[in-house]
Amino acid sequence: MLTQVAEGVLVHQSEFVQSNAIVVRGRAGVLLIDPGVTGAEIDCLADDLRELGQPVVAGFSTHPDWDHLLWHARLGDAPRYGTARCAAAVRELLSEADAKDRIAAHLVETEVAGQVPLDLLGLITGLPAGTTRIPWDGPQVQIIEHQAHAPGHAALLIAERGVLVAGDMLSDVLIPMLDLDGTADPIEEYLTALRLLEEVAGEVDVLVPGHGSVGAAGQVRVRIDQDRAYVHALRDGREPGDPRIGPSARPGWEWVSHVHTGQRRRLDQRNDHADTPR
Ligand SMILES: [Zn+2]
Repeated sequence: MLTQVAEGVLVHQSEFVQSNAIVVRGRAGVLLIDPGVTGAEIDCLADDLRELGQPVVAGFSTHPDWDHLLWHARLGDAPRYGTARCAAAVRELLSEADAKDRIAAHLVETEVAGQVPLDLLGLITGLPAGTTRIPWDGPQVQIIEHQAHAPGHAALLIAERGVLVAGDMLSDVLIPMLDLDGTADPIEEYLTALRLLEEVAGEVDVLVPGHGSVGAAGQVRVRIDQDRAYVHALRDGREPGDPRIGPSARPGWEWVSHVHTGQRRRLDQRNDHADTPR
């Protein structure tokens, strides 16, 4: 079911980790951002779009994680974009012959095992480095690229609709997940990204995270502060006391605390390593 969150901006939520697909209406059709997760859900989205009489004229993936790279034949063959770094990361992923098998194997442990269409995964075109707008015939969509969470991660600001699409940041259900392999200083990159989002916060009436609830204007700063507090705690080796971790995490989402423990351990290892004289 599509829910309108602002004029000409609609969201289709997946049951899997409350993943949000975002639809932006343009002149001749819609821009579809991170289409969704299971085949049935994307099918439902395709039905909704047909009812609206809106073909997909462009696609965009906010970052190179499998759950943001999916597509389905019924959505048509519009160009699908990502940042240059995102596209490069996807190319590298798909250059491994068994990439999709590995994703499928990882999914076996989740409630969407066998339900995710991987055929058209990741067929995106990288926009030239430094591109600040998605090329399409509709409201301007500004690309705010940064290196938090994943290589070439993009938040999208649709200023004339007051909407910020945050990708996998500013979630009310997931803790910040750092890109521990992709950058030399994942903590600093995350904090930089939060500052970039803070700079545009005043223009935002509606916040759409990649996973979790859509937030009203006040939520932007609340979630920026919450993410920053978590990252500071991680940096300083403190327990963050984050409401998104621990027993309050929903059943089946224990991996949120696993991610947390893993991040702490790996950051500790990096720090130990850095302190070792050579
Ligand atoms: Zn995600």
